[in-house]
Amino acid sequence: MSLTLLLCSFLLIFRQSFSQETLFQLEHEEFLLGTLVEFKVIHDDFGEAQNSILQAVSEIQRIENLISPYIFSSEVYQINANPGKFVKVSSETLELCQKSCELAKLTNSAFEPTLGAVLEKWNFNALEPKKPSQEILDALVKKVGYSKIQFKNDSIKVDFEMKLDFGGIGKGFAVDKAILILKKNGIKSALINAGGDIFCFGKNSEGKKWKIGIKNPEKSDKNLGTVEISDFAVATSGNYERNFVENGIFYHHILNPKTGLPSQTCKSVTVLAKTCELADALATAIFVLGAENGIELVETLEKTEAFVVDGNGNLFFSKGFKDFGFSEGF
Ligand code: ADP
Ligand code: MG
Repeated sequence: MSLTLLLCSFLLIFRQSFSQETLFQLEHEEFLLGTLVEFKVIHDDFGEAQNSILQAVSEIQRIENLISPYIFSSEVYQINANPGKFVKVSSETLELCQKSCELAKLTNSAFEPTLGAVLEKWNFNALEPKKPSQEILDALVKKVGYSKIQFKNDSIKVDFEMKLDFGGIGKGFAVDKAILILKKNGIKSALINAGGDIFCFGKNSEGKKWKIGIKNPEKSDKNLGTVEISDFAVATSGNYERNFVENGIFYHHILNPKTGLPSQTCKSVTVLAKTCELADALATAIFVLGAENGIELVETLEKTEAFVVDGNGNLFFSKGFKDFGFSEGF
């Protein structure tokens, strides 16, 4: 997209004084990483705010061009297209892949970055997705497993019939990288929301912590509640994001890596964490682990909280979740 178009689509929300200071709130939306990414920046210099948003957009585009399994020139595409061979990658792809392996280990493979070949068969992005045959799924899940990814210096190798897919962590990873740019530029307050993977810092337009709605998985135009956070991430994984019905059966995009089938344990999982990458990956993992095991896991992690709506619609909270200004409803 051209610079002119980008600039035109900025929205200046207000110009207001807090403690004798004029602050501008700029909002911008851009289609990135297969979703609409929302940027909000509050700053005392309009030009710097605008420029920082442009840089944040470019950063997410840069990351997407490295890690998308759909972009022919991406490093992840090249790794997947060359099984059995080491493929040299950038420090970002290496970092993402290594962190993904750590998170796979932490979650006992509920979060799995090696589901690419299985996800390709499901093809949730197709106009009319279809459930793959059980034989195909059974054969492909045997190839899944983060411990089979091989690293050598700055190169990565996958096995035949195994592919990488960072769909469960990539948005969080990219949000963190874009936030780093905003912080480096000295931006006072900002929020980036990549389809439910959010990081915010500073204060909102009312001078308070940012208030984030958690969607009701059964009525996605309604909120189950809100949390109030700053310099923190919140990510929600829901079965309402990508799904289809075939022969009366509901299928969605978060798979149990052991079976290759959509996990039925939850309807939505919201995780609060220090980084968006961690919140994103854990939300996906807990969706597979289920409420009880998932909450047990976050209780072992510092500054990490979870809120789960299980498959029957029951709500579960980790001990400290409600301390993040949780209030029910809108
Ligand atoms: P969303 O993309 O809606 O934010 P998630 O963060 O849960 O939701 O990511 C879901 C995506 O992650 C899927 O579209 C797929 O690419 C990938 N994925 C599906 N199941 C798993 C899993 N068990 N572990 C890791 N990634 C997964
Ligand atoms: Mg996720």
